[in-house]
Amino acid sequence: MSTNQDWSTCEPGELQALRSRLVRSERNQRVVRAAGIVSTAAALIAIALVVPRQFQQPAPIAQITCQVAVERFDDYGKYLSQGTPLPSQQADEMRQHLTKCDRCRSQFDEKFPGLLTATVAALLPLVWLTKLRA
Ligand SMILES: [Zn+2]
Repeated sequence: MSTNQDWSTCEPGELQALRSRLVRSERNQRVVRAAGIVSTAAALIAIALVVPRQFQQPAPIAQITCQVAVERFDDYGKYLSQGTPLPSQQADEMRQHLTKCDRCRSQFDEKFPGLLTATVAALLPLVWLTKLRA
């Protein structure tokens, strides 16, 4: 019943060779694991940097984004041309946005030709006076 007969004496150096083989394979596994962690971390960092940028809203100009400004073109156009009531905050935001944003201003100019120029011309003396006082 004894299994002792299955065992035999080791050749000289056999255990040493087995040990160094085990150490080597353990080292290899550690390197593979570290490489995996590093590449996963790099991928996560890349995702963290790239993904939010795609969902990020463009920076607002004068409180409102270009998208909001474009949506309010009709209201603001009627407000300027016909005096259709517009909440004063919205009118302010639109005026400031169109003053600072070239793209929206030219789009608005295409839709309502001359309207902004007329308004700006009417406001210029006011701007001039304000600057004189400052
Ligand atoms: Zn804009």
